[in-house]
Amino acid sequence: MDAEQLRDYGHQMVDFIADYYNSIESFPVLSQVQPGYLHKLIPDSAPNHPESLQNVLDGEAKILPGVTHWQSPNYFAYYPSNSSVAGFLGEMLSAGLNIVGFSWITSPAATELEMIVLDWLGKMLKLPEHFLSTGQGGGVIQGTASEAVLVVLLAARDKALRKVGKNALEKLVVYASDQTHASLPKACQIAGIHPENCRILKTDSSTNYSISPDLLTEAILHDLGVGLIPLFLCATVGTTSSTAVDPLLELGKISKSNEMWFHVDAAYAGSACICPEYRQYLNGVEETDSFNMNAHKWFLTNFDCSALWVKASEANMVMDYKDWQIPLGRRFRSLKLWMVLRLYGLENLQCYIRNHIQLAEHFEALVAQDPRFEGSVSCPYVGDCGLCSSVVFFGNRIRYTFKTCGQVVTPRIFSLVCFRLLPHHNNEDDGNKLNHDLLDAVNTTGKIFISHTVLSGKYILRFAVGAPLTEERHVNAAWKLLQEEASTLLAGDPV
Ligand code: PLP
Repeated sequence: MDAEQLRDYGHQMVDFIADYYNSIESFPVLSQVQPGYLHKLIPDSAPNHPESLQNVLDGEAKILPGVTHWQSPNYFAYYPSNSSVAGFLGEMLSAGLNIVGFSWITSPAATELEMIVLDWLGKMLKLPEHFLSTGQGGGVIQGTASEAVLVVLLAARDKALRKVGKNALEKLVVYASDQTHASLPKACQIAGIHPENCRILKTDSSTNYSISPDLLTEAILHDLGVGLIPLFLCATVGTTSSTAVDPLLELGKISKSNEMWFHVDAAYAGSACICPEYRQYLNGVEETDSFNMNAHKWFLTNFDCSALWVKASEANMVMDYKDWQIPLGRRFRSLKLWMVLRLYGLENLQCYIRNHIQLAEHFEALVAQDPRFEGSVSCPYVGDCGLCSSVVFFGNRIRYTFKTCGQVVTPRIFSLVCFRLLPHHNNEDDGNKLNHDLLDAVNTTGKIFISHTVLSGKYILRFAVGAPLTEERHVNAAWKLLQEEASTLLAGDPV
């Protein structure tokens, strides 16, 4: 490493990235290239001789068309993947130091800072003492939520097998719902759980797509009756599809009485729980054995940084994080979370989350004003319309589920709005095609990027607010585009 060359090239690279952020709105949000586009533009083999940095940066003109701009203020797809100056600086420092901190001695600061920042974040989330390093457990940074669930499933499996004998692997059962992230079935496959013993509980609109404790109890009783062993329950706070929140308290009691490992995946929505008004969604977390949230989603920490807390660790004063993850080597990822926590502070982070949720509320209100769409609060009646079959309380907010008049997709809780365009006639197949076409139409303009899900067989559009640069004007422009494209499609839709 030549320090002077780093200074020179580093400044050029920072300028390049700063210019990118300045012009980010000029790129189509969703890449519009065809598969294999890059092969046609780039030589077959690496150069024999060094090239100048300027040459390489000029070559980025070939790369950028193939980039989907997750940091664009017009990015509303999937869930956000935040970057920030603080997170960027932490990444830079980590790259600069470039340590491989698999054990305490390989860089004591890496292990100790990770323990400290995860304690800080754990306290911001008001996690129980048993998840803190001062209690019986502790936190660890994994690459992704998928790795987190695999690691804890493996720990749960080995703990159970030590108790019931290693030949019992075929009998172990894992419980989750049809809304649980696909990383759970994948983890089951890797952990050797028998494919028929991955119990996927059905959800529907009657519980707003959260797990029914009754269904879980029924499944466990059935499994016990045929000699199987309940091993692991994965609940979600903020499902990928629609931000459903599983009832942690009730599920925790069931897990405890059946001696199952209880894991909570709060990959996206965990961030919101640093705000007192959203912390209620973690009520019951005291009953869990492990808890995970992705700081790299909605917490201004550049990818990758997935925070996992576990209840019981066998560590003493000197612990080696290599034993808490799949690989041996590990990066100094806590630096970026440390930067984010220090350069923002709790109050700013709370404002950041609230601002996105307000923008989602704003979008929801826009959808509600257009009778051509079905949104999350689009019933024309305020209060008790007499048609609504149930009223659901979410903290200090009231959400109506308009089962009778059919005006609601699913309630919005955080910064995701689920909505759909209603077909002229009530034909579900037409509705699905219409919404698929609407998604395609808006995404191919390159002006915004949204994604979809399927709930109860219906094709639903997802509008997830959470990019750091998004402002109200971007939400308004996105809605205008959706309305325009909807008008075009409806004009071609036979009445
Ligand atoms: N869990 C939930 C609820 C998610 O929404 C996602 C991704 O969006 C994941 C897990 C997977 O996250 P990762 O990419 O960190 O594995």
